[in-house]
Amino acid sequence: MSNRLPIIILLSAIAIGALQYTYYPHVSEIDLYSLISEIIIAITVLMLIFDLRSFRGNKQIYVLMLLGFVLLFFAFWTDMLDEIIDQPRLMTTIFEDLCQMAGFITVIIGISKWTLINNRQNKELQRFATTDSLTGLFVRRYFNEKVSDEFIRCRCSKGIFSILLIDFDNFKSINDKYGHSCGDDVLSIYAKEIKKIQRETDVFARWGGEEFIVLAIESNIEDCANLCEKLRQHARSLLVAVGDEVINFTVSIGAATLREDDDSVEMLINRADQLLYKAKRNGRNCFYIDSSR
Ligand code: GH3
Ligand code: MG
Ligand code: MG
Repeated sequence: MSNRLPIIILLSAIAIGALQYTYYPHVSEIDLYSLISEIIIAITVLMLIFDLRSFRGNKQIYVLMLLGFVLLFFAFWTDMLDEIIDQPRLMTTIFEDLCQMAGFITVIIGISKWTLINNRQNKELQRFATTDSLTGLFVRRYFNEKVSDEFIRCRCSKGIFSILLIDFDNFKSINDKYGHSCGDDVLSIYAKEIKKIQRETDVFARWGGEEFIVLAIESNIEDCANLCEKLRQHARSLLVAVGDEVINFTVSIGAATLREDDDSVEMLINRADQLLYKAKRNGRNCFYIDSSR
């Protein structure tokens, strides 16, 4: 729902109430029941007219809202008729109450369904915007937001965290030997595997290409070393089946824990990056951690 819609709804409900009072000034007491019904009529009409797109083609909700509107309108109209002929009749009163009740229920079901679907779609959109489609890991932009928040939090609370950069070893040769789509399989299978060992607070993301990055919250050097070793071993022991063959692979990791003199997250990531290159130079399938605090 757009931000302006509730204001429009409120103004319309007031306008409908004011109109009724202008035409029938002898109605001195405000009938709460009919006021609520008028507000719901206004909501329904406005949702149908102005916010059609948010139904996102859901016909069931549209029909429910339309039915609710028709029922409430009948109740409203019967009420008006009684006022005009100035003598409420039993049949019209029963008809009005039944329409009003059925209208309320229908519109409330419609609005709840619509809210539910809208929330689900918003969550789906959010997931789509923050998740890498191949690996299911978070995207770089989301990682940057999380790590910046954590950096600020740790600066205020003297907390600690680690950053791990994971790079696949000789990945080009995997692509060359088995094909690009098998390379993709390796990336996605390893990503699924490492998600199993991730703590709830850790953020695993795809940094780019065949490089992953981890934000390990409240992780000191020992915790960081344990995580690096687990990640390295998972890669080494994982076998990806390609036809009759199996692909095995290794990763190298560079990691850094937050230091008191770190002015920015970039400094930390740069240190992890340099250590990743050290791991590459020293034979791959290993990790290096920046230990000086
Ligand atoms: P090193 O051990 O030094 O890291 O060697 P490497 O071959 O892994 O390193 P390099 O960075 O030279 O090559 C990375 C390769 O990863 C090149 C690129 O084609 C491949 N790659 C990057 N992203 C993807 C992807 O999404 N899918 C596949 N299949 N390959 C990718
Ligand atoms: Mg590589
Ligand atoms: Mg690389």
